[in-house]
Formats: sequence, C-alpha cells, structure tokens
Amino acid sequence: MILDLFKLENKVAIVTGANTGLGQGICVALAQAGAKVCGVARRSCAETKALIEANNGEFTEIIADLSSTSPINEIIAQAKNAYGKIDILVNNAGIISREDAINVTEEDWDRVIDINEKVVFFLSQAVAKEFIAQGNGGKIVNICSMLSYQGGIRVPAYTASKSAVLGLTRALANEWAAHNINVNGIAPGYMATNNTTQLRQDNQRSEQILERIPAGRWGTPDDLMGAVIYLSSEASNYVNGFTLAVDGGWLAR
Ligand code: NAD
Repeated sequence: MILDLFKLENKVAIVTGANTGLGQGICVALAQAGAKVCGVARRSCAETKALIEANNGEFTEIIADLSSTSPINEIIAQAKNAYGKIDILVNNAGIISREDAINVTEEDWDRVIDINEKVVFFLSQAVAKEFIAQGNGGKIVNICSMLSYQGGIRVPAYTASKSAVLGLTRALANEWAAHNINVNGIAPGYMATNNTTQLRQDNQRSEQILERIPAGRWGTPDDLMGAVIYLSSEASNYVNGFTLAVDGGWLAR
C-alpha cells in the first residue's frame, strides 16, 4: 500500500548538524518514520536524543567537527558499529557568514565553503561507497537554500556554497542512479533557527522578508518533515537530482 512506501523501519540514517534547528527536526522525523538515526554534531545532541527516545526511537550521537574531511572515515565506522549499515545520509550541517562582499576574507570564504560544500561532497562519496558495497542502493538528501537559486545579500560564500550543493545534487544523482542511489535536495525557505537569528533581529530586513513570503510566516523545522521522509523513502525511488523547495511560496513570487 502507498503509505508503506514512506516507512523507514530497518533503515539507518546519518544526519549532520543533528543538535539544533532543522537537523534536529530531520532526526525526529526520520526516527518517527522508523529509522535508527546517527546524529553528527560538534556539540552534544542530548536534546535530540531525548526527543527521539521519548517516542521509543533509536538515536546514536557522533561527535565530529565537519570543518574538514578528517572525521569522515570515523563517522562511517561509528554508524556501522552502532547499527551495522547505512541507508540514508542527510547533509544538513552548514554555516552562514554575513559580511559585505567587498570585505570578505579568504579565511571566512574557506570556512563556509569547507563545511557547506567540500565536506558535503566527500561525506556523500564515502557513504555512496558503502551503499555500493552493501548493494541495496541508498538515499542522499542535501539541504540547499533559497540561495541555491538567488544571490542573497552580504552572504557571498554561503550563496556560492548552496548553489554548488544544488549542482552537486544533480551531478551525483546522474552518476549514482545506476546503483539505485537517489540524490536529491531540499531548499528550505526562511526558517526560524539559529541560522537566521541575526536576520530576524534586524527589524527592517525581517519585515521585508516576511512581507515577501506568500504563506505569511517564517518556516519551522516541522515544515521540513514531510519532504525529508519522502526523499529518504522508497516513495521517491524514481526522483533523481531534484531539489524541492519548502519555502511557503517564496520562489513562486
Ligand atoms: P543552525 O545554525 O541551527 O544549525 C546548523 C547545524 O550545523 C548545527 O547543528 C551545527 O551543529 C552544525 N554545524 C555547523 N558547523 C559545524 C561543524 N564544523 N561541524 C559539525 N556540525 C556543524 O541552523 P539551521 O537553520 O538548522 O541550518 C541547518 C541547515 O539548513 C544549514 O545547512 C543551513 O544552511 C540550511 N538552511 C537554513 C535555512 C534557515 O532559514 N534557517 C534556510 C535554508 C537553508
């Protein structure tokens, strides 16, 4: 039956940036659909773990700093050690740095690109090697942004990285579809998380943004749940290289 295709029982998911915001909501959604979740973060994921375990879900924390590729092998090893295999990867961890383009330093640029783009590629590559070795395909979901489509203001490295992730989603989907690996993206609109605290505190920018959202409100982590389950499940087996906007209509304006 159709709703069975959305079930994630016996699936194992890795989610990066699992301690807060959208990543926390993604972990909770995957666990509610039945997956065992390995949450990767620099800091404790105790809150995410408690939310999941309150619902009898399974969660393992993997502490790692994704500012470089060095922890990737250890992340894969810890996930396999916890649950024996990997079926789903959600590349959610990301940072934003706000500065006039004229003043951005090379250090700032590299910091954003390394986490948001370089590590996304190499973690996807490492997980895809596991998927291919396991022989059952797999799902990769990349968290993109409105700035995968638009220029943004005072966030050039972020825009470059998120535009790259949308392109990477297509590129990897093309190469790995033959292995039954689906690579897709989700482009959240303006969501109320740490990522947008500064923006929401700027009354003028905050009003301008809200006025432009047809749904008339900022999004929340709960708004991503349906999309992430769809793209992590068998319901999306013939969806390859597509990025789904969950944006209250922002891009439709
Ligand atoms: P957030 O700041 O609450 O979450 C960012 C996550 O990334 C945190 O869990 C953090 O621990 C993790 N992270 C950052 N640097 C890390 C590092 N070096 N090592 C390991 N983990 C690290 O913000 P959020 O809004 O939940 O962001 C999640 C994703 O969604 C990001 O990729 C962000 O760009 C994207 N996004 C957010 C919005 C929004 O409006 N909030 C919109 C579009 C896309």
